[in-house]
Parts: sequence; C-alpha cells; structure tokens
Amino acid sequence: SCLERIDMVDPKVNAYITVDAEGALAQAAKADEARTAGEAVHPLAGVPIAVKDNICTKGLATTCASRMLEHFVPPYDAFVTRRIREAGMVILGKLNMDEFAMGSSTENSSFFQTKNPWNLDYVPGGSSGGSAACVAADMAPLALGSDTGGSIRQPAHYCGVVGMKPTYGRVSRYGLVAFASSLDQIGPLTKDVRDAALALNLICGHDPMDSSSAPLEVPDFTASLGQDVAGMRIALPRAFMGEGIQREVKEAVLAAAARFEAMGAVVEEVDLTMTDMALPAYYLISSAEASSNLARFDGIKYGHRAKSYDNLLDLYKQTREEGFGTEVKRRIMLGTYALSSGYYDAYYKKAQQVRTLIKGGFDEIFAAYDLILTPTGPTTAFKLGAKTADPVAMYLNDICTVPVNIAGLPAISMNCGFDDLGLPIGLQLVGKAFDEHSILKAADAYE
Ligand code: GLN
Repeated sequence: SCLERIDMVDPKVNAYITVDAEGALAQAAKADEARTAGEAVHPLAGVPIAVKDNICTKGLATTCASRMLEHFVPPYDAFVTRRIREAGMVILGKLNMDEFAMGSSTENSSFFQTKNPWNLDYVPGGSSGGSAACVAADMAPLALGSDTGGSIRQPAHYCGVVGMKPTYGRVSRYGLVAFASSLDQIGPLTKDVRDAALALNLICGHDPMDSSSAPLEVPDFTASLGQDVAGMRIALPRAFMGEGIQREVKEAVLAAAARFEAMGAVVEEVDLTMTDMALPAYYLISSAEASSNLARFDGIKYGHRAKSYDNLLDLYKQTREEGFGTEVKRRIMLGTYALSSGYYDAYYKKAQQVRTLIKGGFDEIFAAYDLILTPTGPTTAFKLGAKTADPVAMYLNDICTVPVNIAGLPAISMNCGFDDLGLPIGLQLVGKAFDEHSILKAADAYE
C-alpha cells in the first residue's frame, strides 16, 4: 500500500530520489514468510521505512542529492541501515534533501524540488525535507533523517510530523555521509511520539565504528510513554518568543505551555544566555568541518569525475566545479577561509569558545529545569523560492534549533497547531544530554 501511495502522491510531492519497489516487495515477502512459519521476528519486521539519501544503503544509490554522488552505490550499510535490515524492516527507498544536508528548504537538492504536502506552493523545510514530506503524505509510516543544525526538527515543524534528534553520541554516525562531524546526528521522523520511541529503540546504541558513539546502556524508550508530567519543570526562554516570531507560532507555543501547566507541570520564563551567538558560531563550525569532510570528493576516490582536464590539479578543480552546487561551494569556501592559517584563532577557535559558553547557558537552565520549550522555528513554512536568493535569510530559520546541536542535546519537534493559512506549527522540547526519556514523556503526554 505504501508503494501504491508513492505512485499516486509522489509525482506531486517529489519526496523520493530512489524507490526500490522490487527490493521492498522481496523484503516484505520474507517478513510475511517468517511470521507465517511462526519464527520469532522483531516487532518492526515487515514495517516499511524510507531513508534520507545521505545514509548509506548497500546496493542502493546514496546520492546526498548531489551530482557528485549521483551514481554512487555504497558497498556497505550504515550502522542504522544494518539495524533496519536485521529487524527485517522494508526499505522503500531514499529521500530527497538539500545537497549534503546544507539548507533549510530542500531547494538545494541538485535533482528536483520536494513540495510541502500541506500546500504544494510551500517548502517542506530542510535539509530532511524528503523525509518529513514522505511521512506527512503517508508514503512511509517512518523515515530517517539527519540533523546538524535542525534538519530533522525544522522540516518536521513545517510538515506537521514528529521529528527527534537524539543526544549527540546516541546513534552511530557510521555510514552517514559526514557534513559537520561534531554536530551530525541521525534520528526518526514519524507520525506520533510512540513511533519515535520505537524507532529510537531500533537505532540507538554503542558502535565501535564511530569514535563519538556513547558506550551507554540504551533504555526502552517506550517506557517513557503514558507517564504523568505533574511536577516536571519546563523552562520557556524569552529569547525565542520575542522579535521575529510569527504571531500564530507564538500563540500556539504559549497555548502548549498552558496545556503543560494544566497537566501539573511548572512552566517558567527564563533567560537562556548566548543564544544570539549560536548562528554565527554554527555557520563557522559547520562550514569549517564541512570543508574538511568534503575534501574527499576529488574525482579520484568517490563519485563524479570530470571528463576533460589537463593535469591532476585541473582534474580536482573541474570535478568539484561540476559536482558541487552553489550552497555547498559557499560553505566550502567559508570553511576553508575560517580554517586557513592566520585566521584560525579569529574564527574557528573563537567559535569553539563561544560553543563552550552556549553549552554553559544550557547547563545553567538544566540545573533548575527538566526541559526547555521553544518554537521549532520562528515562522511556518515559506513559499518555494522565497529565500533562495538570500542565504542569510535562509540561515535565520535555524535560530531555535542550532543551539541544541551546538550543545549536543536531544530535542523533539511535534505539531502544536496551524497558522492562518493552515500550515503546521511545531513546538520543540529540549532535554539534558542522554535524557531522551523526559522529552518523550512530556511529548507523549502533550500528544
Ligand atoms: N539548515 C542548517 C544548515 O543549512 C542545518 C542543516 C542540517 O541540520 N543538516 O546548515
């Protein structure tokens, strides 16, 4: 039924880069057989899932929505893909995104534009726009995305689904094509909080193949569901509720705060310091790391290679000129500049110092509160093309989500209403490091 739905809806929404109908049906048949034969199967066996196209799937193209990797078929599975296969889940295909996960609208895909299923004239958000649109339009019950500065939560907000970024280190990044290694994290996009908990049970866990993977026990996340939130302490930072926040977004988040209070939680306004520094620090750190990570795409080891060139240096230049889109080039140039000798202290090092201060701001709040409540973004989805000419306007969408990655914290985005045009509004709940439990508990109670 998912494949039929894709046939019917995806010509309009354009969420999928690759649909693997044959592989999906074969896997589904296998799950059916195992169940019929009475074999012990994983609870998610046979459940369809779709995967963002920067997560490696053995034998299935993984393009990062880039000309550079257009024909790249990975010879191995990412950690999360392996978990999916071991569970006997059905991989439907791979989802559109901003090229190399750089963007907030999926308009930076080198292939085509994904539309917001709620209104096809609007963006689905990004960079996991395909993942959010696919779940919102019922083309898969569950999708995986990646979140470096908001790329799971912001499209979840724009498309009215649940998107969860686990704590940095909770999910192995092995096989996730790296954008900014100190910020990247994989997470689920789902219809509801229960599905998010089930997905986390599947993908979380220690992996020696990722040196930043946390060697911690993984709790059963479904144990956080159906709990009482009375007495929980929730902080509402003023900085995210002031200037630049769309009226309907502010009203919906305040209404959500009131609902938490009605359920017995304590909600208080707080000052979260240094958040105004988060965007500049993020765009320096993430671009610096990206410039280093993307150096591997040189026409020799992976992907595209220029057809005509004079010598080795020219081969690199031509390949990268042809393979990368405008935004990716912009980030590589910014990052290379920030890391160049003589500028390192002024930019990269300074940004890392600011990072420590931002983390300190969160620590202060979490000394007295269990959760932080904010809008997921300052506005609802914008029209296709509205911000493509202005990269800074595009970056400003990430104001509420980026600080969370800088501090490595877990956070969820879930729907809390609709604007006057009927576009979804997301609220964000941020927790302490490795305290996904409190987030899921509050999110499920709210839902
Ligand atoms: N929009 C942000 C950026 O362009 C975040 C991207 C992400 O989380 N992958 O960098």
